[in-house]
Amino acid sequence: MNEITYCPRCGKKLIEQEKFGELRQTCPDPECGFIHFLDPKVVAVVLVEYAGKLLLGRRNINPGKGLWSFSGGYVNRGEKVESAALREVKEETNLDIKLGDLLGVYSDTGNPVILIVFRGYATGIENLRAQDDEVMELAFFRPAEIPKLAFPFDENIVAAWIKAREKDPV
Ligand SMILES: [Zn+2]
Repeated sequence: MNEITYCPRCGKKLIEQEKFGELRQTCPDPECGFIHFLDPKVVAVVLVEYAGKLLLGRRNINPGKGLWSFSGGYVNRGEKVESAALREVKEETNLDIKLGDLLGVYSDTGNPVILIVFRGYATGIENLRAQDDEVMELAFFRPAEIPKLAFPFDENIVAAWIKAREKDPV
């Protein structure tokens, strides 16, 4: 992921060397000294609820095409995470929502993605419209009716959402 072949600074072919505790692509030219650091990818996720139900979108792209998942997407460099969360919900569902509490942060060893997950509340759903090519269908589900979800963290996130709702219902 995000591998590059040539040094962006001097154009020489990069080699793998141990630097700062990990194998990293580095420039063989000691005068250049370029090291390719791979940063994590931050994803903002929102569990949008309305009338006690959870909004899910059915994915129109791989990975997980045909399976259901939450609204969310990558946080841009320099973008506030909360702003990214609201932007992604708007892009995928056309809803302007109220962002709620942080539900959790999810990451795993060897996985470049860090999920930052919020609760969210729709005040109305008249404007609901799947308007992103990535989502083929949007629907609301009661906690007991939630279908098979697309990604490894999803079951844990739903469990956290159900627990949070019991403590702090809308
Ligand atoms: Zn170089």
